[in-house]
Amino acid sequence: MNILLLGSGGREHALAWKLAQSALLTGGGRLYAAPGNPGIAAHAELVGLEATDHAAVIAFCEDKRIGLVVIGPEAPLVDGLADSLRGVGLSVFGPGKAAAQLEGSKGFTKDLCARAGIPTGGYERVTSEEAGLAAVRRFGAPVVIKADGLAAGKGVTVAMDLDTAEEAITEIFAGRFGAAGAEAVVEEFLDGEEASFFALTDGSTIVPFASAQDHKRVGEGDVGPNTGGMGAYSPARVLTPELEREALTRIIAPTVKTLADEGMPYSGVLFLGLMLTAKGPQLIEYNCRFGDPECQVMLMRLESDLGELLLACAENRLGAIQPPRFSDDVALTVVMAGEGYPGEPKKGGLIKGLAAAEATGAKVFHAGTTDCPDDVLRANGGRVLNVTARGASVSEAQERAYAAVDLIEAPELFCRRDIGWREVAREKA
Ligand code: ATP
Repeated sequence: MNILLLGSGGREHALAWKLAQSALLTGGGRLYAAPGNPGIAAHAELVGLEATDHAAVIAFCEDKRIGLVVIGPEAPLVDGLADSLRGVGLSVFGPGKAAAQLEGSKGFTKDLCARAGIPTGGYERVTSEEAGLAAVRRFGAPVVIKADGLAAGKGVTVAMDLDTAEEAITEIFAGRFGAAGAEAVVEEFLDGEEASFFALTDGSTIVPFASAQDHKRVGEGDVGPNTGGMGAYSPARVLTPELEREALTRIIAPTVKTLADEGMPYSGVLFLGLMLTAKGPQLIEYNCRFGDPECQVMLMRLESDLGELLLACAENRLGAIQPPRFSDDVALTVVMAGEGYPGEPKKGGLIKGLAAAEATGAKVFHAGTTDCPDDVLRANGGRVLNVTARGASVSEAQERAYAAVDLIEAPELFCRRDIGWREVAREKA
């Protein structure tokens, strides 16, 4: 069968790498990726399709007889691409527009949690600056303010004092986030350690996938501004089997059931951002796609055929196949980013040494890279490379990942040197 993968980041490089090993491609099946990146080009044929042009994607799929479309990022999902493709009979991995509101509207998710009795922080939806200011004063500090829609990680303020909270409300209603900030959510501050948990669902069957822990802040020790993620490891042992079961029964199952009952069945991967509080796991957020860079570390450990899993999900027969199997190893990824990120990153810097890094057994996933005519690789984005290694423990995977990082010559890139620090400290204790 032929497969089309949409996206261009490190997450999609990992998906392409794993899909290229799928039995679905045996017998001459082709893997296409749009728009892809130089790393993805090693596994797939790149095509110049825009995910926003639904008609062009449909025409391509019909022309190439695509048997499975895998949508990597959230924007095309929230935009309803999966509905357009399903509308012409294509098999698609990823939720339709209605269910993708789980990520596309924070207010939608909070209301759903309230209807389904899902553990999450108390909240109030507000549609004006006046109402927002009144709400933050009622909650008191610390309090969390979120623009309702997609804001690439920049729409959330965790305010430790009232001034910061009020400023965040004023910014949102001054239009800083455009349509994504037409509404806001004021939310109770939750205290604890964060972890991510992933499950596949076809709308009725739910299959746990894996856990991971991300490092959102740009600076070592988790300081500085938020980013798309500076590194991750999987599994997140802080999410014990008991806590995973609790997340499945108290959060995921009621979400999937409520969405199905209300005529918005969810098909794809559910990505839960959890706060592990003294009262148990509480939902911070849902995302409707694999995490980036969590996907890279989970797929490094995945032993099952990713194509078979995603196709079974798309064809509503997840209950009929073997659940995913993972290696007991830990995988850890270090993000190398352009100087200046998460602000305006320096672009165009030369990157060398990837073959030497991979000769150590590590895998380097490309995110913001570009091939240049002189056959060299250059940086072309905020997050540029994801250097990923496996080991028997987080400490070992960390050591191996940084050994590979140190073989990469890219003077205009930087990385955090402490990815996995919480777990490394626990391992050493
Ligand atoms: P965007 O929508 O802008 O892309 P996002 O989806 O990354 O943002 P969230 O994951 O909801 O936004 O929040 C970002 C971070 O803010 C979380 O990873 C967490 O550290 C912190 N956070 C969010 N909600 C809370 C809360 N209720 N209590 C404490 N911290 C929170």
